[in-house]
Amino acid sequence: MDILEKAMTMLSKHPLCDNCLGRQFALLGYNIENEDRGKALKLALTLQASAFHSAKNAEGVKRLKVLAVNGFSSEAQDTLHHLKKRIPKKESPTCFLCDGKFQLLDGLIENVLNTIADYEYTSFLVGVELPVAVEEREDEFKAAFNVSYGESIRHEFGRLLGKRIGELTGKTTEYMKPDIAIIVNPFAEKVRLQVNPLFVAGRYRKLVRDIPQSKWFCSSCRGKGCEKCGGTGKMYPESVEELVSKPLLEAAEGEKTSFHASGREDIDARMLGNGRPFVIEVSKPKKRFLYLKKLEAAVNTNAEGKVEVSGFRFANKDNVRRLKKGESAQKEYRVLVEFENAVSDEDLRLLEEKLTGASIKQQTPLRVLHRRADLTREKYIYEVKVKKVSLKRAKMKIRCQGGLYVKELVSGDKGRTTPNVSELLENRAKPLKLDVLNVIME
Ligand SMILES: [Zn+2]
Ligand SMILES: [Zn+2]
Repeated sequence: MDILEKAMTMLSKHPLCDNCLGRQFALLGYNIENEDRGKALKLALTLQASAFHSAKNAEGVKRLKVLAVNGFSSEAQDTLHHLKKRIPKKESPTCFLCDGKFQLLDGLIENVLNTIADYEYTSFLVGVELPVAVEEREDEFKAAFNVSYGESIRHEFGRLLGKRIGELTGKTTEYMKPDIAIIVNPFAEKVRLQVNPLFVAGRYRKLVRDIPQSKWFCSSCRGKGCEKCGGTGKMYPESVEELVSKPLLEAAEGEKTSFHASGREDIDARMLGNGRPFVIEVSKPKKRFLYLKKLEAAVNTNAEGKVEVSGFRFANKDNVRRLKKGESAQKEYRVLVEFENAVSDEDLRLLEEKLTGASIKQQTPLRVLHRRADLTREKYIYEVKVKKVSLKRAKMKIRCQGGLYVKELVSGDKGRTTPNVSELLENRAKPLKLDVLNVIME
């Protein structure tokens, strides 16, 4: 069937707006909007109907009436008027497929612009929500009229909204990782935003002991606040996470933050060297165009020499994934060890020799058993260097696979870590001070 005849058949059955008629022929012609396609078809049909009328074919007026009513065509109406034919006064129909919603897009777009005005973003994506009945109706329509070059109603809504919003805001559509997803429901005339998180990566150094990496909830009240924790809900007044996140959360005007780090040091260990890589994820940020150098300085001022950050840069979800993978990356530690009995230079050389290149079998330490499964892990030590400090004290520098519990490597943890320093020297050893010197990421 010729496309004009097909369009005429559709209109004689159902009222269709320009967009919805044009959409059934969307794959015909290039760089033409469906609205223009629909309009062109209706105009061509109006001319054809006029020709029928001139040839005294009664089909002409019949078709003009269909175009005037079901096609909403002012040209067909004017033509009928000119021919002094009655224009049918049917109660004003609405488009069978979109219920006239394509004609209300301007209002919807204004709603979108108002909703996103509070947010900073560079990219967006429009998602369209439709009542199930609407898509089903279109599917049935397409089957009934054997539509083979159409576009879907969802696709047209999304495409038009995306294009117009892009033009009005100057922002770009991004399919994979948009800053903001704009979910539009043209039928409910509702707009909602899905604001994707902002990721900032950096490294932190922890210059003092007794600050945990992450916020540690009070064990008695689990965060509600009680007598034991002085109403704070926390075991420790501050954490690396809080010190680093607070200025970021405030600057980004987000809802909350999550702190992702490549492993963690013990609460009483310092984190020195280049620092430990981390990523802060800010949920629902209003601001994204942050001046990171200034924020870095703000964190460092706020943390008052307790925690120091560097290398702030914008990141994404992949960086978080890589951080987690990098947990087993090489780490370098320094631990001050105290022995029960005096140690000789020979002892210390033996320690270097036995531990360098050793595989350590480590059962989950007793001190973390309450929160970790009881497993035996094997961790490799690349290098150990030992320096005597006094008769019973030595400093050990250990470069090992991430995840090795260094305190237990020293003490032996009641035989749960083997080999260990105490056992190798048959001299009970105790870790006094632990520092992480380096986190080596590939
Ligand atoms: Zn329509
Ligand atoms: Zn408490």
